Amino acid sequence: MELACAPMDAFEEGSAPLAETDRTRLRRMPERRSLDRSDLIAILDAGFICHLGMVVDGLPTVLPTTYGRAGDELFVHGSVASRSLRGAREAPPVCVTVTHVDGIVLARSVFEHSMNYRSVMVFGVPEIVSGEEKLEALRVLTEHVVPGQWQYARRPTSQEVAQTTVLRLPLDEVSVKIRAGAPEDGDGPDAGLDVWAGDVPLRVAALAPVRDPTLRSGVELAPHLEAYATGMAARLEPYAR
Ligand SMILES: Cc1cc2nc3c(=O)[nH]c(=O)nc-3n(C[C@H](O)[C@H](O)[C@H](O)COP(=O)(O)OP(=O)(O)OC[C@H]3O[C@@H](n4cnc5c(N)ncnc54)[C@H](O)[C@@H]3O)c2cc1C
Repeated sequence: MELACAPMDAFEEGSAPLAETDRTRLRRMPERRSLDRSDLIAILDAGFICHLGMVVDGLPTVLPTTYGRAGDELFVHGSVASRSLRGAREAPPVCVTVTHVDGIVLARSVFEHSMNYRSVMVFGVPEIVSGEEKLEALRVLTEHVVPGQWQYARRPTSQEVAQTTVLRLPLDEVSVKIRAGAPEDGDGPDAGLDVWAGDVPLRVAALAPVRDPTLRSGVELAPHLEAYATGMAARLEPYAR
């Protein structure tokens, strides 16, 4: 099954490291930063849920939502009635985060406990997607979550498209932070304590699809959906560093 959500393009093929800005420069634990474009792409393509943060009516608001990536752009969508997305139509600056929790790090001391993770932060001002590009953005979003589904399921009608807000955010100002491995107190003064230390790996898994009880008889699971669990396992496997 094809897992890449978009064909290889100049953004993916580009070897230039990610550019840092004053806003994206990691101050805390800068050794966990990655400027490697392939890390950014691997993290974004391994997930499909982001947190979209922006100020709505004067209040900080963080909206968990689905995203898709194509080239150097992220797409998020929602109902035109969504208050937060309505706020985003006024083009405020936003911050989008994508996080994969790969494990819990158990140190000898509580102070040194940590998480293994891969995370991305994207800053920018989103644009509303309209016209023909909107349908393509909806395809990208659909295929990012379930590859093969755009071809398979009924496509949105123009009325349904009109009821959907789609935002595009360029991947121009991004940061990538990754922690992997053991706790960090193995060579410190606590190393001699009789306290178990290590890490508990965590994974997201797709289980066998569950049939809708109202599904017409004779409608069988499509091959791309049968393959979904296997595909997801590969997709969600922590990025090997
Ligand atoms: C699952 C998970 C759990 C975490 N738990 C904790 C915790 O309990 N306590 C804690 O202090 N920190 C935790 N972190 C790390 C946290 O996300 C921040 O990196 C850290 O708190 C430093 O924040 P800061 O504002 O001082 O960062 P700074 O280094 O000052 O941030 C500067 C810039 O670095 C970039 N940046 C910072 N953090 C991240 C990130 N995680 N991913 C991508 N870019 C980033 C952003 O562009 C940001 O604007 C956790 C991270 C994850 C993913």
